[in-house]
Amino acid sequence: MIIGIDLGTTNSLAAYYTEDGPRIIPNRLGERLTPSAVSIDENDQVYVGKTALERMAVHPDEGASLFKRSMGSRKEFHLGGRTFSAEELSSFVLRSLKEDAEYYLGQEVTEAVISVPAYFNDIKRKATKRAGELAGFKVERIISEPTAAAIAYGLYQKKDSTRFLVFDLGGGTFDVSILELDDDIMEVRAVAGDNYLGGEDFTNLILDTFLEEHHIDKNSLSEKERLYFRNQAEKCKCQNGADSFFRMQAVRNGERLESLITRRDFDKKAAQLFDRIKQPVRRSLADAGVRISEIDEIVLVGGTTKMPAVRKFVGKLFGRLPDTSVNPDEAVALGAAIQGAMKERRESIREVILTDVCPFTLGTEVSIRTEGDRLESNHFCPILERNTVIPASRTEKFYTVYDHQTQVDIHILQGESRFASNNVSLGTISLTVPDNKAGEEEISVTYTYDVNALLEVEAKIKSTGETVTKLIKNQESDMTLEQMQARMKELSYLKIHPRDQEPNKVLLLRGERLYEEATGELREQLEAVTRQFEYILDKQDPDRIAEARKDYEEALDWIEEELWSGQ
Ligand code: AMP
Repeated sequence: MIIGIDLGTTNSLAAYYTEDGPRIIPNRLGERLTPSAVSIDENDQVYVGKTALERMAVHPDEGASLFKRSMGSRKEFHLGGRTFSAEELSSFVLRSLKEDAEYYLGQEVTEAVISVPAYFNDIKRKATKRAGELAGFKVERIISEPTAAAIAYGLYQKKDSTRFLVFDLGGGTFDVSILELDDDIMEVRAVAGDNYLGGEDFTNLILDTFLEEHHIDKNSLSEKERLYFRNQAEKCKCQNGADSFFRMQAVRNGERLESLITRRDFDKKAAQLFDRIKQPVRRSLADAGVRISEIDEIVLVGGTTKMPAVRKFVGKLFGRLPDTSVNPDEAVALGAAIQGAMKERRESIREVILTDVCPFTLGTEVSIRTEGDRLESNHFCPILERNTVIPASRTEKFYTVYDHQTQVDIHILQGESRFASNNVSLGTISLTVPDNKAGEEEISVTYTYDVNALLEVEAKIKSTGETVTKLIKNQESDMTLEQMQARMKELSYLKIHPRDQEPNKVLLLRGERLYEEATGELREQLEAVTRQFEYILDKQDPDRIAEARKDYEEALDWIEEELWSGQ
């Protein structure tokens, strides 16, 4: 069984394919979204999702979230004295989703199609694949999120020839893709995006307004306070009712603070963010050579597209209402599950041939001769242009630039700048060429980009026939199979918190958090209801525990409400 996984910046989720179409797999708390957060306690128990977020409110130093942004980087996350990379933290999320899927489906799940933002570069895609492998999956395919979303929409609406624009605004990334579904071929025409733009920016906007209004210096906040205020801002942002304002509330030093931000004010403050959104939209249209009027459907994906302000903006920008027939939180996972089913060649599914594009230009560094016969280095020579349909392979020829040159370095670069140094370096192939006159030695360089967006570079010296091939490795954190297996072994002492205890644990952690926020009588009540619940947990009678859990949750709901209403 292949499952589809949307490994999101803020939330992750998994889906599987049934004869009636794809379905979301609920997690251990019975919820469809699992926050991409990890917390580890002193007993080496790993908490993932909502439980991790609850734990982080009380133990901020032992948890991490938003790590997808650092995928493939050298950034280290320190959780209670232990150090992890973003891909390792992601592997815990994936492990948890795997366990949930196995429990729900009643069978072992070993294969997955995992989605990544279309804009993820080669390094980040490989790191995502490794995260899947660290979690024990065979990663069948890495699929671009908008492509997955378009599959979900395209197949359900069964339109024969449609041109989509997928507008994907998640927690931390923004992607625009233009796709065409024609008969059974889905082609990505162009992708563009911004790796650092998403719902978090809107949350920060509310948070900053609140802090400013109450003269609180952001830098003076402890980590715990910062998380608490951020969570309050997040809750405030998700109020999508008919109110003409956002209300943010928080307690500091026993004082109840509140800010009302009118939607109009919010729109004004968000104008800069909306301007940033326009840029990739324009670029993708230009790259695809398509006018707005030639787009048949606008598909919204990502939690942030639930914001009325965002929907209004999209409506205005495109002059029509976007399609929201599939839940924007779920489209990617559903599409990934369909892609998994296509790979398995399930009979009930019409197979769609998927063509994707390379989201960025890949090239190399060259020296060019300027007028005074001076050699000027640091120039970028594109080999595979961005938005080339993949799999793709292109060859360029290069020549030695000076007499007796015996070494040639093929510097593999990714980016859009004219200057090599402004682009991202993916690696270097060094070749020794025969001693000869300038321009006499020819080297053919072939870049091949496969369907998993993995790059292979081949350099061939014409005179000697010597060929060097390099599958681009992430120099920062790439691992050999042995290293990976060793790290898996190392990490195996960390166990995902047992799923059957999760609903109790998340409530106890919530109780702990509320205890820290409450004072006086509410604190005493909390203490009493928590003790009562712990007492029943000790009895280990599942029926009584289920009943007590319900009571405890109701009591916590009531206390939380009291805490805010200031009674
Ligand atoms: P994703 O990365 O697609 O899971 O999107 C997560 C982002 O969507 C986060 O920034 C959430 O705050 C945001 N989000 C989720 N639900 C809502 C909502 N109802 N209203 C506004 N933003 C939301």
